[in-house]
Amino acid sequence: MEQPLAAGLYIVATPIGNLGDVSARVSAILGGVAAVACEDTRVTGKLLNHLGIKARLVRYDDHASDATREHLLGMAATSAIALVSDAGTPLISDPGYRLVKAARDRGIAVTSIPGPSAAIVALTLAGLPSDRFLFAGFLPNKDKARRDVLAELGGVKATLVFYETAPRLEDSLAAIGDVLPGRDVAVARELTKKFEECRSGSPADLIAHYAAHPPKGEIVLLVGPPGAVETSGEDADALLKEALATLKPSQAAAEVARATGLDRKALYARALELK
Ligand code: SAM
Repeated sequence: MEQPLAAGLYIVATPIGNLGDVSARVSAILGGVAAVACEDTRVTGKLLNHLGIKARLVRYDDHASDATREHLLGMAATSAIALVSDAGTPLISDPGYRLVKAARDRGIAVTSIPGPSAAIVALTLAGLPSDRFLFAGFLPNKDKARRDVLAELGGVKATLVFYETAPRLEDSLAAIGDVLPGRDVAVARELTKKFEECRSGSPADLIAHYAAHPPKGEIVLLVGPPGAVETSGEDADALLKEALATLKPSQAAAEVARATGLDRKALYARALELK
């Protein structure tokens, strides 16, 4: 007979579109816990049905009342409790952080059962440098806030990974084109599903493509690091001239440095020449 699971909180990743991605360990844990905390009982109910598992479901998100969290922590202190999100890895742009922190603060065992996360699946597909990446969740909805975040992250020498939605894709691509000119971009859509697609190009190319083929479904947007593409002197001049049309030489140099990874001081000297 199988050993009962040790008491504690089990963070369980679930498929992001392909039910075949449920591992044997995920099935065993979900089948062995006393309750499953989830965002939406209907969504998780369908997954458990598919796996032939009957489990008590408790709705939970990080805005849940303290009483709900206390209730789950009380159960996790003496029995095995799972946390899942609608899809993918809990805590990754999904609820769970507050529950895990509270469990750890109280000495309740926390175990993570790994599985799919759209950010990682996209990073492995996009053909952008994967040695350093920065996952930044969803970009803000408002244009100014979105551009501010892109400017803040622009100097990071890493591939940037964002979650995105179809209706906002064009605006985000336009903001990336303006704030981080010259970067490689990839759009990874419907990962692990029938119409999975990963398309790379410049923001302008991608905007044109999706204007002709309106994007559907779930999207991860990736922006290559500065300097990933070698920038020729001519390219740098073109970017500087474009920036100088609206910015002071120091600002133009900073913007092009952020986009290309080229030396800001050298770009400033060149901007003064071009002005
Ligand atoms: N925790 C989840 C994970 O680990 O992937 C992410 C949850 S977040 C609320 C939902 C976002 O993840 C979607 O808006 C989309 O950006 C991305 N996403 C989830 N599934 C996806 C898929 N199959 N293909 C592309 N992006 C996906």
